Amino acid sequence: MPKKQKFIITTGGVCSGLGKGISAASMGTILQGMGYSIFPMKFDPYLNIDPGTMNPFQHGEVFVTDDGAETDLDLGHYERFLDISLNRHSSVSTGQIYTKILSKERQGEFLGKTIQIIPHITDAIKAEVLRAAEISKADIISVEIGGTVGDIEAEPFLEAMRQLRHDVGTENIYFVHVVLIPYLMASQELKTKPAQASVRELRRIGLRPNMIIARSDYHLPKDILQKIAFFSGVSEQAVIPAVTDESIYHVPLAFEKHDIGLTIAKKLELAYHEVDLKKWEKLHKDRKLAKKIKKIGLIAKYARSIDAYFSVIEALKAAAWSHGVNPEIVDIDSEELEKEGIKILKDLDGIVVPGGYGKRGTEGKILAAEYAREHKIPYLGLCLGMQMMVIEASRNLLGLKNATSEEFDAKAEDSVIHLMPEQQKITSKGGTNRLGVYDCKLTKGTKVQAAYDKIHIKERHRHRYEYNNDYRERLEKAGVLVAGVNPDLDLVEIVEIEDHPFMVGVQFHPEFLSRPTKPHPLFSAYMKVIAEASSKF
Ligand code: GLN
Repeated sequence: MPKKQKFIITTGGVCSGLGKGISAASMGTILQGMGYSIFPMKFDPYLNIDPGTMNPFQHGEVFVTDDGAETDLDLGHYERFLDISLNRHSSVSTGQIYTKILSKERQGEFLGKTIQIIPHITDAIKAEVLRAAEISKADIISVEIGGTVGDIEAEPFLEAMRQLRHDVGTENIYFVHVVLIPYLMASQELKTKPAQASVRELRRIGLRPNMIIARSDYHLPKDILQKIAFFSGVSEQAVIPAVTDESIYHVPLAFEKHDIGLTIAKKLELAYHEVDLKKWEKLHKDRKLAKKIKKIGLIAKYARSIDAYFSVIEALKAAAWSHGVNPEIVDIDSEELEKEGIKILKDLDGIVVPGGYGKRGTEGKILAAEYAREHKIPYLGLCLGMQMMVIEASRNLLGLKNATSEEFDAKAEDSVIHLMPEQQKITSKGGTNRLGVYDCKLTKGTKVQAAYDKIHIKERHRHRYEYNNDYRERLEKAGVLVAGVNPDLDLVEIVEIEDHPFMVGVQFHPEFLSRPTKPHPLFSAYMKVIAEASSKF
């Protein structure tokens, strides 16, 4: 490890859901704004190997990296804030650590020793951090410990970080603890006791925070901040009030008002440079100026599932703000659409059908594609949303009434979406998707090619099924153009409806490459059409 690398460890106290990921990403953004390179990591204390097989409606979306790792949605925050591409070294679960240790044990690598949480598991955790440091060569490694201090599952990670402090030296490591300061309506008081208990719990493990991020829904007065500084042994300028913000993208600006960059730099003995957050200031301004409201229907398996489609929603927002539009995302339950019919779509300015698995709710999504095509409503189909579009066109333009995907009916006569032969052998569930970045060659003259303004692109994938080339000629004749193909396997990656303002389906997930400060070209082209359409309101 080059000597100068620094480590910032972010933990959470009191309860989950405080925005530890956003806090760590915002600190990273500030340090990056000072000219330092950052490599973020997230440790997840659960026993699953990765979130790939976890229910997105419980756990949030599965974020996919270039190298095909299926990771926690916090990695999406890191990519969006830091505008960097992460890899599998950024996402480590307890399941992965144990798997590694146990397979070594089976191979006899421990030479008959008793394997224990300390030192074997903790060593393996430290090794992950040091490996990420070595591979990334970043100036600063930002490590977020998932879960809440006090959870049994998080203990080995915290112990490993305590040891890491010893190994790298206290001048090279910085501990940030994010806590909740609740407000009691009845007595009209802000309470610091839960935060105190959480800092005490950290101390019990042998850790002392260098900075406290105090999350609250209410303004935190000076005396409360002083009290937090006093009981946690942190200097007053390192107690950062973090009142729930109007937008997550404003958090770096809000944090830097408290000179976080300077405080961290001093303690880590890093040279201080003025923090450049210009692109975040511009984003803040664009967002404020985006007044024209447009309703975008997100046709999903379950409604009210923001976390399950986090990157899609953020990509829509970024594109909308850049075109002066304020998007109102309308959650539409596809099963309700099946029951109620297309009347629930009638006020929408645009339709998005995001990714998904399984048959449930797909007829509603196919109905949405039909409605969008016939009424010329801008439509963006992401992965499953592209497959829905192809099924709809096959049924209604080619007259193949039973057209479907092999995923929903293995014996269907017209599987316009099917499993590739090499995938048919796979039976286990974890990690069987086509994952990560693949090349795509765009077709000249299509709207998609104009949007990207290049011919060769790379996009991230996560799916099992593909467009069936047997139907390609007929579909193209009917106006379902092939706008992009994987050049190595001749797989259709993008379809586009001819003679429509914007109806595009992609077999990949462009939302993972969108950045708030740099909207993705497809989302941007989609939103441009919506922004320019005369408003119905
Ligand atoms: N279920 C579809 C497939 O496996 C789509 C997956 C997705 O939308 N991510 O191909």
